Amino acid sequence: MTAKNTPTVLILLGPPGAGKGTQARLLEEEFGLVQLSTGDLLRSAVAAGTEAGKQAKAVMEAGALVSDDIVLAVLHDRMEDPDTAKGVILDGFPRTAGQAEALDQLLSRSNQRVNSVISMEVEDGPMIARVAGRYTCATCGEGYHDQFKQPAKAGVCDKCGGTEFKRRADDNAKTAGARLTAYHAQTAPLIAYYEGRGVLERIDAMADIATVSRAMSDAVKRVMAT
Ligand code: AMP
Repeated sequence: MTAKNTPTVLILLGPPGAGKGTQARLLEEEFGLVQLSTGDLLRSAVAAGTEAGKQAKAVMEAGALVSDDIVLAVLHDRMEDPDTAKGVILDGFPRTAGQAEALDQLLSRSNQRVNSVISMEVEDGPMIARVAGRYTCATCGEGYHDQFKQPAKAGVCDKCGGTEFKRRADDNAKTAGARLTAYHAQTAPLIAYYEGRGVLERIDAMADIATVSRAMSDAVKRVMAT
């Protein structure tokens, strides 16, 4: 909650590989906010074989953006859940100008607004390698990477002891390139949109996870105090 007792709405903007998911999980733990990843919601819809999932599957595998209608429907359903009452961290949403406008409308219905947008600034070059090598614990979702972060004991999750791991179908070099292109064409213009509204903060996200986390945490503390 912000100091005025309205739920906090925080947006993480950044290309694939910038670390949005990793940092959202850390902020979730620290501030009691709930991470809402439209990518995760869409992957669940695909796995469940819902109508939205069937329409989204091929688009996601190609690294393109799923239509605003489908994304807004899955997000809207999730935002109705009671656990979002303290506030949310939107990870991977909005990704288009249309989604940003739809979010404003959705929030205004309950007298909420976007409190803060953190732009996670990275260089394009290393993002493909970051994305192509990553995998997660199938039990708790802890993130790992072939090159940068292996579990301390091979094949065993540091966090929960799980031994099953999974990789996303779209985390390969070819699809990651298409996702980066989509980011620059459709999502990066939102940086100027939110800067114009005075809610944007830029963070150097090329640093290590702990350094980025400290900068993000400081930014969120400032927002929650207002
Ligand atoms: P992510 O997990 O955020 O990397 O998203 C994985 C894929 O899901 C993207 O490449 C898109 O195909 C789709 N997706 C996730 N969020 C959105 C969104 N807000 N708008 C459109 N497509 C999305």
